[in-house]
Amino acid sequence: MHLILVINAGSSSIKCALMAIDAQGLVKECARGQVDGIGHEAEFSMRFADGHKDIKEAMPTGVKMSHKEALSVILKSVDDTFGLSALIGAGHRIVHGGPNFVKPTKLDSASIAELRKLIPLAPLHQPHNLAAVESLRELLPELPQIACFDTAFHATIPDIARNFALPKALIEKGIKRYGFHGISYHYIAEAFAHNDPERARSRVIVAHLGNGASLCGMINRQSVATTMGFSALDGLMMGTRTGSIDPAVIFYLMREEKMTPDAVEKLLYNQSGLLGVSGLSNDIRTLRKAAAESADARLALSMFTYRVIREISSIAAALNGLDALIFTAGIGENDPQLRAEVIKGLSHLGLTLNESANSKRDYQISSSTHPAAFVIPTNEEAMIARATLSILPDC
Ligand code: ADP
Repeated sequence: MHLILVINAGSSSIKCALMAIDAQGLVKECARGQVDGIGHEAEFSMRFADGHKDIKEAMPTGVKMSHKEALSVILKSVDDTFGLSALIGAGHRIVHGGPNFVKPTKLDSASIAELRKLIPLAPLHQPHNLAAVESLRELLPELPQIACFDTAFHATIPDIARNFALPKALIEKGIKRYGFHGISYHYIAEAFAHNDPERARSRVIVAHLGNGASLCGMINRQSVATTMGFSALDGLMMGTRTGSIDPAVIFYLMREEKMTPDAVEKLLYNQSGLLGVSGLSNDIRTLRKAAAESADARLALSMFTYRVIREISSIAAALNGLDALIFTAGIGENDPQLRAEVIKGLSHLGLTLNESANSKRDYQISSSTHPAAFVIPTNEEAMIARATLSILPDC
């Protein structure tokens, strides 16, 4: 058996998936797990596709777990279940590839050093992504490791959509739109092309609506516009993030409310969005339940939907029309009400809802066929495993 270990490391958790490679070179998920509570008392869980007992265990109390210890726990379960010799490579989700890393890349001392230089572009994520890479190198020095970047899929965005209206000298320093969720967009572009190759060549908008949320406009499977920008804070309203906000609010908060840059960052990333507006939760399921009683929950849900409709319309204008709209990620895949309201709000583009297809979550959920709306579940782990597999021979 040949396995690829997919790692998505954050500040307080490491998510992992084990993907098996079959004789045809196709990837199939055989386990998914995570260590939560890194830096605190952690908990590890792993669910297997078949034949093995699921694991859920708390780490010893009073012990603060590091990324390296968390990876050791994951590797031990791989060893116990499949044997470590089954591992042929590890693929990492790395949030930022900057202007230069636009393809999956082997992680060695030189590329890791270059990726470290990008930490100022993604200070909340990049250091943790790289901590997992370096820990795994210490634990399994011979295992080839590959980086897949959330920014890379957007390398095709033209300057007109990429650049901010800032002086050129600042753009040249790298202050521009990078876009994120690219691994998910790449997966959806391939899945859609597999289902409907002709339509995938036309004007497609993918709505990745999860706790983090963004849109990507594609032509012929290439990103030409996206709502996230220099950071993953821009664009749509999200679970705990504001999305786009007048930058003057930030100067005001610092000058008049005496907030430090760190406090403003925390406000915009962690205390805003659905959570901030509702005062209840970042989870759309909780807000749907609370909506009957809570005007704030209703406002949060309406604002989220409104922003999705406006931004889809904006990207459709950038594409000069729309042929397909695809919903994906936690909310996009699982909240029929959101999809229904968005499609109804896009009647000006010619979209009409198929109520029963939408409530059953069929593949096509519009009654209009041109443009049409679809639901495609994303699978970032499968995309990382495929990308890792594709460059392993060069490692
Ligand atoms: P991320 O990867 O950005 O953390 P996900 O794509 O997992 O986020 O999406 C998480 C969000 O999706 C949750 O906060 C919740 O709002 C929504 N969600 C997940 N499952 C469901 C469901 N069954 N019904 C409605 N919404 C759901």
